[in-house]
Amino acid sequence: MTQKWDIVIVGGGLAGYIAANYLSKTNLSILIVEKGKQVGGRARTNKMDQQYLNLGPHALYKKGKAKSILEELGINLHGKSPKLSGILMEDNMEYAAPLAPFELFTTSLLNGKERIEWVSVLLKLMNTDPEKLAELTLQQWVKQTAHSKKVESLLYILGRLATYCHAPEMVSAKVIVANMKNAMGGVLYLDGGWQTIIDQLHNKASLSGVEVKSPTLVKQMKPAQQDHLKLVLSNDEEILAKYVICTTGPHELNEMLVETEQNHFFSKITPVRGATLDVALTKLPNPKRLFAMGITDPLYYSVHSPYARLSDDPKNAVLHVFKYHHPNDTHDRAIVKNELEEFLDQLQPGWQQYVITRRFIPNIIVNQRLPLIGDEQKLQRSKTEIPGLYIAGDWASPHSILADGAVSSGKQAAAEIILNEERKDSANYERRLPTI
Ligand SMILES: Cc1cc2nc3c(=O)[nH]c(=O)nc-3n(C[C@H](O)[C@H](O)[C@H](O)COP(=O)(O)OP(=O)(O)OC[C@H]3O[C@@H](n4cnc5c(N)ncnc54)[C@H](O)[C@@H]3O)c2cc1C
Repeated sequence: MTQKWDIVIVGGGLAGYIAANYLSKTNLSILIVEKGKQVGGRARTNKMDQQYLNLGPHALYKKGKAKSILEELGINLHGKSPKLSGILMEDNMEYAAPLAPFELFTTSLLNGKERIEWVSVLLKLMNTDPEKLAELTLQQWVKQTAHSKKVESLLYILGRLATYCHAPEMVSAKVIVANMKNAMGGVLYLDGGWQTIIDQLHNKASLSGVEVKSPTLVKQMKPAQQDHLKLVLSNDEEILAKYVICTTGPHELNEMLVETEQNHFFSKITPVRGATLDVALTKLPNPKRLFAMGITDPLYYSVHSPYARLSDDPKNAVLHVFKYHHPNDTHDRAIVKNELEEFLDQLQPGWQQYVITRRFIPNIIVNQRLPLIGDEQKLQRSKTEIPGLYIAGDWASPHSILADGAVSSGKQAAAEIILNEERKDSANYERRLPTI
């Protein structure tokens, strides 16, 4: 017997679980199909040697859409905000990062004129309406906004920190500036890692009757009879769904759509990538060094454990070193690993003696879509041209990326399906009304 579901959600990451939680308030039957052994996608946290390692550095924007939607769903978010103070590094020189008020006025990175310019650019940034930047790349906006090279670099650093995008000549200023403004509102590092979000979403969905099938991959998807979609799973089982919400990447979606017209725009989407070195130490050789970024080198370092419980032993330190990849660059695994380790050597000399556990991922997708000018025109709705197929995920939101994009697009897809069902119900009701 082919199983029939009202809704099948492909992917058990943030977008999939958000959609499931909103849809679980209806009486539609819902199945999540996840190819991984562990649910959570890129928001998962691995417990390694009693340390909780997120998949690279994860910070939740306090002013972002994800936080407010998660709170609307009753998800508890425990953790603290890291301080904005830290250092910027170039050519073995260290400068106080002018991101917090004290450092803004004391850093040796800027001379008097540059300091005044940087303060006024920050104020301008906070008062900029990102909607007005829809036709500009980040680079064009930076050139219009900053005069000195130092202030230009500071804007690029803030852009990388807020979005992980390292291609100012390509990306849409609208999306990046909106995220930079969000980042200025502060972030949270979460106790227990981001898996705590997934676990709560999973438990709530399961209690409301949502079923999860994992590890199971969806191999194929195609329109079937009676307005249903047929999905072929990795064990060759076939299931039918009235609605499918696909939360995989755009290229994976196109691959699933065999014998169906593939979406040309999806095939052109480029992801945002980076390399991450996730490390837990018994102690920090230099406990005062908690945050650093490269000025020209696209490097990041942050110790998350002072602000979030990420180890069973509170004395341990959990930190992340990260390299932002340019989409056109090729990356040699050994060279990138060396680069990240050398950056950490500079900040925490002798760290290797204190390693509890470590993990290096050379080329991970951070966001499935590098946000380009005009993308939002093609992503206005979750509904696709294929009847019954909806999209969600960090690439599928017109205005947001990262967790904000994943979470808001999951909610959007659910809302569109609920609206569609309500319309059908009211049309059926009207049809049943007696004519007078
Ligand atoms: C290193 C790193 C750092 C990050 N830092 C931040 C940050 O600081 N702040 C922030 O907001 N965001 C951050 N993010 C981004 C954030 O983690 C993602 O945007 C978000 O988790 C994406 O959720 P999603 O549901 O869209 O996709 P995913 O989490 O990728 O979920 C999709 C799921 O679909 C499954 N799947 C794929 N194909 C199939 C198939 N054929 N059949 C069945 N299942 C399938 C996958 O296994 C996956 O579980 C970071 C990401 C990374 C990698």
